[in-house]
Amino acid sequence: MSQFDVVILGGGSGGYACALRSSQLGLSVALIEENKLGGTCLHRGCIPTKALLHAGEVADSSRHSSDFGVNTQFIGIDMLAVNAYKDGVVSKLHKGLQGLVKSRNVTYIEGHGRLVSKNEVEVNGVKYTGKNIVLATGSYPKTLPGLDIDGTQIITSEQAISMDRVPKSVIVLGGGVIGCEFASVWKSFGAEVTIIEGLPHLIALEDESSSKGLERAFRKRGINFELGTRFKSASKDAKGVTVSLEDGKTFTAEVLLVAVGRGPVSANLGYEEAGLTMDRGYVIVDNKCRTNVPGIWAVGDLIPTLQLAHVGFGEGILVAEEIGGLNPRPINYDGVPRVTYSEPEVASVGLTTAQAKERGHDVVELNYDLAGNGKAQILKTAGAIKLVAAKNGPVLGIHMVGARVGELLAEAQLIFNWEAEASDVASLIHAHPTLSEAVGEAHLALAGKPLHSHG
Ligand SMILES: Cc1cc2nc3c(=O)[nH]c(=O)nc-3n(C[C@H](O)[C@H](O)[C@H](O)COP(=O)(O)OP(=O)(O)OC[C@H]3O[C@@H](n4cnc5c(N)ncnc54)[C@H](O)[C@@H]3O)c2cc1C
Repeated sequence: MSQFDVVILGGGSGGYACALRSSQLGLSVALIEENKLGGTCLHRGCIPTKALLHAGEVADSSRHSSDFGVNTQFIGIDMLAVNAYKDGVVSKLHKGLQGLVKSRNVTYIEGHGRLVSKNEVEVNGVKYTGKNIVLATGSYPKTLPGLDIDGTQIITSEQAISMDRVPKSVIVLGGGVIGCEFASVWKSFGAEVTIIEGLPHLIALEDESSSKGLERAFRKRGINFELGTRFKSASKDAKGVTVSLEDGKTFTAEVLLVAVGRGPVSANLGYEEAGLTMDRGYVIVDNKCRTNVPGIWAVGDLIPTLQLAHVGFGEGILVAEEIGGLNPRPINYDGVPRVTYSEPEVASVGLTTAQAKERGHDVVELNYDLAGNGKAQILKTAGAIKLVAAKNGPVLGIHMVGARVGELLAEAQLIFNWEAEASDVASLIHAHPTLSEAVGEAHLALAGKPLHSHG
């Protein structure tokens, strides 16, 4: 059969989520993938990087175990074994996902697909017709003009996730989420790390308080960074890569990781020919992920929304449900949880102080220092939870820095998305001693009845 209700191009987070939900709704589905089912997130992104970060955490625990009265010795990192652990995690999840797609009766087509008309995708000379076409071709790591990725000395995250050694020194170009996560891993593995960021702060999209908290923690860990200074050029020799900045400074390291953002995979795929509205390679959609061409939809990193796997899942499900006639609510992108999985972690949901003010809110803020939290002391982590709220109104943003704070987002996103006020959360008893208690304490303080906090 080559006629389907839904033909999906790209089997990453956005594409496979759309396939699974569509088939659940009784639609016939074809899912086309040229590489591996699971896409960037499973094979080159979220999962492998988080496995590396966990190995880094274990390395740091063994280095600092005597702080807890446990005597161990950190001997070194065996990258072959680290990669075997990481690849094992990926492989298990990959097998599970393949089984899932099969069990849901999705027709899985391997090969390079191209949109050849408004309702057809061609793969290996065969045309697959869909009442609906969902484009989910994802993104690729960008570089800067004049900066050639050679894959050994000048690399992107694609090579960084499977290196067979720990480099002695690394320059990370770009202090966004991906750059900071790799900086954190390599520091834990024993490399000398310098981040170069053109904007005034690391993870500049986060609330300024979170950026400053991460910068403080990175400084303490001995991760170097240069902020507000732009890249000029890079040169290579046998010793490594030398990066020159516009302010005249130079840095040399064994490896240069280019982490300057990701661009949409949309060239030569027939998108323009089909008449799709595009902007700098991104496919433009409305709040239900509909393109300007009826029957063609687009999701995930291919559209200019937050480049996160769970956003891809959400958009894929949204499209399936819209096609299935369920008339789902559009996604509120402010309510999407965001995590940088470095040590320490940075997690947030909702608006930053600057965004809340821009939108005309009369803003109140509350900073709760994790120093007052028993579990944070037990873990020996530092950090804070910052609340941004409307005066006499709901919580507008929650911004957290500290070990494991990503896990606190489950509650934080309910608070934001259900438009809770501080007093609603203050009346909920949080388990003691947990890090989640800090979320409760911050809201107690914002509601005017602080318990374990000064002022
Ligand atoms: C290093 C790194 C770490 C990350 N960490 C996180 C994280 O911790 N949490 C998080 O939420 N997000 C993370 N992300 C982002 C996340 O991986 C992406 O947002 C997500 O994968 C986007 O899903 P997608 O379906 O849009 O695209 P992709 O996952 O890129 O999938 C697109 C798929 O389409 C296929 N394809 C493309 N063109 C064609 C064609 N012509 N024919 C057939 N198939 C085609 C590709 O092979 C690919 O499998 C990370 C990304 C990177 C790079």
